[in-house]
Amino acid sequence: MSGSAVVVGGGLAGTLAVGALIGHVDTVTVVERDRYPDRPVFRKGVPQGRHLHVFLSGGQLALEKLLPGTTADLEAAGARRMEAPRDVITKGANGWQRRYHEGKHAVVSCTRPLFDATVRERVLAEAAGSGTRVEVLEASEAIGLLGSAERVTGVRVRSRDAGHAERDLHADLVVDASGRASRAPQWLAELGRPVPREEVVDAGIGYSTQMLRPTEPFDMAVVVQPRPDCPRGAAWAPVEGGNWLLTLSGARGQHPPTDGSAVLAFVESLGESHLVDNLRTSDAVSPPHGFRDTFNRRRHYDAPGGVPEGFLAVSDAACTFNPIYGQGMSVAALSGLALREALADGGLRPGFAPTAQRAVARASDTAWLTAVGADRPYAQDTDATPPGLAERMQTWYFGRLVDRAAIDPVVGAAFRDITHLAAGPSRLLSPVVALRTILLPRGAGLAAMPLRAESATG
Ligand SMILES: Cc1cc2nc3c(=O)[nH]c(=O)nc-3n(C[C@H](O)[C@H](O)[C@H](O)COP(=O)(O)OP(=O)(O)OC[C@H]3O[C@@H](n4cnc5c(N)ncnc54)[C@H](O)[C@@H]3O)c2cc1C
Repeated sequence: MSGSAVVVGGGLAGTLAVGALIGHVDTVTVVERDRYPDRPVFRKGVPQGRHLHVFLSGGQLALEKLLPGTTADLEAAGARRMEAPRDVITKGANGWQRRYHEGKHAVVSCTRPLFDATVRERVLAEAAGSGTRVEVLEASEAIGLLGSAERVTGVRVRSRDAGHAERDLHADLVVDASGRASRAPQWLAELGRPVPREEVVDAGIGYSTQMLRPTEPFDMAVVVQPRPDCPRGAAWAPVEGGNWLLTLSGARGQHPPTDGSAVLAFVESLGESHLVDNLRTSDAVSPPHGFRDTFNRRRHYDAPGGVPEGFLAVSDAACTFNPIYGQGMSVAALSGLALREALADGGLRPGFAPTAQRAVARASDTAWLTAVGADRPYAQDTDATPPGLAERMQTWYFGRLVDRAAIDPVVGAAFRDITHLAAGPSRLLSPVVALRTILLPRGAGLAAMPLRAESATG
């Protein structure tokens, strides 16, 4: 164990990066713009924190490897666990998905502030029992990188307290975990490095989320996905404290309201009477809050020459997803694990940054392919290149597969492995899945929302 690291951003990815660095470096300094609240409540630095955040089973597996026991901490703190497809009831383009016990995947649902606070507590406890000294600089903003085009050697930091004092923090490794608004591309350009290539796929989805307290809660999450004939959707899931989050979504021109009095009409437009009844009998705990920047964006720091020595970008700072697929936190956990594994393979060493960056990029590959694959048909493509044969075949195959997954336990199991980030996309091409997808009829899902689970998989 030797060397020092600075982590820019003490959100979820930054905290998980600290978890990965513990035991591999002597010191870690976290630079966080906000002050942490003394209890789990919304803070400005994580503006998406008011919205529904589910944690997928692929993320849970990674988190348990990185920080064993954290999922149990989350549940002890009040997070709800719902098994899929039994307790996560989904309506797609061809109707409602069957509900049954599969025993493989579950989502964990709680408010984002509770999630972050629980993970942070676990990481700080791990740090206390390790040989790594972790220091957290709150109300401190990173404003640039130190070093040269070849090697980053630290961060310039400005205090947000009176006086706005600036200072340099030197380190062997700088991890950018400053989220969607990361300014690292400009900072690298200031050192004379090329800006990483960016891919953006924007389906133009808008979000609005309200916290509610239903009078008759039911123990499951309900997801109504947007579809071509109704580009509006809803997700309704329990969180801690007997509250529920209702997240509404809509494509361009169909964005959900942020005016509380208009929420009911939007939900009515989905044509799902259960959701309408639940909303009618719930008390509003918060007003609806909107969110618009939902584009998928990947910065190719992993390309040859993409990062200088001593610099690494993780999670949203490198790759963000349309949140409708609920992947970002799981990718943060998978990235944290990838960083830990890269460190375990020889610690900080020459060539570490590009190697670790490639490993972190691989950790987001499945999420990127699924989110972008699903969003591309809705994206306004500025160069308007018509899709080639391969892309059209992929869209055709994926469309059939999604429909079969709603009714077919074999195809459904493969689909859940991917959408929960527990397997790579090749799982969807296994012979048995491909044959069932191509040869069996597309089929319709259930016409009505299944209020009870089936007793066996059938
Ligand atoms: C509406 C919405 C809903 C979502 N729903 C889900 C979901 O259901 N499931 C899921 O897995 N993911 C979801 N996501 C994605 C998830 O929120 C992100 O992937 C996740 O927050 C990424 O974590 P992060 O630490 O990279 O960034 P953030 O959580 O944004 O944290 C960034 C941190 O960096 C700090 N910071 C920023 N700049 C600086 C600076 N210059 N100096 C110092 N500190 C700085 C900020 O204060 C903050 O603490 C959703 C996203 C949105 C927008």
